[in-house]
Amino acid sequence: MTELAAAGAVVDDGDDLSRTYVHAVGYELKPAGRLTDPGSLAAYQASRPFMEFHIRRRVAALDNVMIVDNHDVDAPMIADGTVTGARIINRDSGIATSLDAEIVIDATGRAARATHFLDRYGFGAVPEVRLPSVGGYSSQLMRIPPGRITERMAFVNRGSRSPGLLLVAYEHDTWMLAITCPDEYGTLATDFTELLEAAGQMLPDTIMAGLSDATPVGQTSISRSTAAAWRRFDRMRHLPEGLVVVGDALCNLNPLYGQGMTMAALQALALRDCLRAGHADLPRRFYRVAAEQIEPVWTANQANDRAAAPSATRTPRDRLSSWAQHAALKAATNDIVVAERLFRVRGMIDPPTRLQDPALLLRILLNNLRHPRPKPYVAVSQSSSPSSVNRADEQAIHTLIDRQVRGWDAGDPEAYASVFTLDADYVTFLGSRHKGREAIAMAYAPLFRTLLKGSSLRTQITRLRYLTSDVALVQARAAVTTQAHRWIRRADRINTSVAVRTEDGWLLASSQNTTRRLFSEKLLSGLDLRSAHR
Ligand SMILES: Cc1cc2nc3c(=O)[nH]c(=O)nc-3n(C[C@H](O)[C@H](O)[C@H](O)COP(=O)(O)OP(=O)(O)OC[C@H]3O[C@@H](n4cnc5c(N)ncnc54)[C@H](O)[C@@H]3O)c2cc1C
Repeated sequence: MTELAAAGAVVDDGDDLSRTYVHAVGYELKPAGRLTDPGSLAAYQASRPFMEFHIRRRVAALDNVMIVDNHDVDAPMIADGTVTGARIINRDSGIATSLDAEIVIDATGRAARATHFLDRYGFGAVPEVRLPSVGGYSSQLMRIPPGRITERMAFVNRGSRSPGLLLVAYEHDTWMLAITCPDEYGTLATDFTELLEAAGQMLPDTIMAGLSDATPVGQTSISRSTAAAWRRFDRMRHLPEGLVVVGDALCNLNPLYGQGMTMAALQALALRDCLRAGHADLPRRFYRVAAEQIEPVWTANQANDRAAAPSATRTPRDRLSSWAQHAALKAATNDIVVAERLFRVRGMIDPPTRLQDPALLLRILLNNLRHPRPKPYVAVSQSSSPSSVNRADEQAIHTLIDRQVRGWDAGDPEAYASVFTLDADYVTFLGSRHKGREAIAMAYAPLFRTLLKGSSLRTQITRLRYLTSDVALVQARAAVTTQAHRWIRRADRINTSVAVRTEDGWLLASSQNTTRRLFSEKLLSGLDLRSAHR
């Protein structure tokens, strides 16, 4: 680590929280006080090529290490249930060579073919558990003149169903900006301009001013999948002696959580300890320890991914877990003890179970009770101009209205009301008023069973105007019909809604319906014309 720092890696020794900007589900993390153990939270920030260069140089300098460059590993060699080496192929000449070995470590990443070889050698299929993709992200390496941004890292999490951001200072005035985007939200940023536009909605002006001086280095990189896979070698009945699969080849995690390198490093330490205890039964002993390391992280990630899933598919348990996460993050914004615990779990210094410590839960609960008024929505950047709203927002609002229509058409009052904020104001075309999502759902439940049974809602957005970057006025033409795809003029309504950006994405904070009276409209406009001619 000292070598990395000397070569230019940015070192955050964890003692000055003001150098890290964290905005989590609507709250800026600014706890007063000092961390009890800042040293263990020290971060060494550098680009992947920089890290690889230095690690490789260090490994190559070891007396008992020889690096065979320019070769691909073709396959492990296995005889009588024991690994005997690996076959490698020269990339230029195509000549294959056999390397004899007592132990072969497969660290070839997510494209590893170990499962394929085990099956081929008659050990059977390796069970695999998967977590499906929940989104993707775009990232860009940049150069920013020194001193333009005082923070060393910025992290924005606006809830699992909204875009998030990571900005990290790297070596020699380079920075990496990544914008995450859940599947249901919209499209990923594809170039530097779009990335900056998205960042403008999430970062304070001081950081954006520094970013305005950034020049991109290389192309924007886009990753469209966050799928995770864990190959359960620990559950295999038979394993070849001497073959150990580690890192992403064993378990690749959702890259959005930035845990893969830490997990690979933890496994390297576990493998070292297993080797110190001898070679006998090495793979099984290693997989057992690795499974203990992976299991809690996998379970926590699974819960996070579930929170990002469309609300209709979330179970009450998912909602509870999502609420608990939000409560912890909220408490961490002003309580240094909670913040430190979250940092430690996120950095995999402590296991996720440390967040279930009763004393900590009580502390989180009391903190939340002291701030009882839930924010109905979160203005992400008070100062950003409406022009910072992008196509993804527009798409998200259209998706929201479509979801409302689907809820109506399914006769599902909860799905229909799910597009509203918890405290939304709703006025029907008859003038009845309902306060809150629950009241709206309750009002529609009997209607969907009787008067509105089998009816369809047709909505067409006619106007979408951003009052701020987080508040939009939505006007729509709406009609209710029982004949699919046919508008009934006398049921024609104007719907005016206020959409707000919340930690759960865009939602309607207010909605008002007016039935059009075409005859009266004509009559009144005629009167207007006559008075204008006088
Ligand atoms: C888009 C993306 C972003 C990520 N961001 C982060 C992050 O911010 N933080 C974090 O901690 N983790 C992150 N990760 C995860 C992290 O990169 C991996 O978990 C980590 O690199 C795993 O290390 P590994 O050694 O197992 O595999 P890898 O780093 O993938 O290394 C495998 C190596 O094996 C080589 N190889 C493959 N096949 C062969 C072969 N047949 N012969 C010879 N060599 C071969 C490859 O060229 C490669 O060099 C990210 C992953 C992705 C995909």
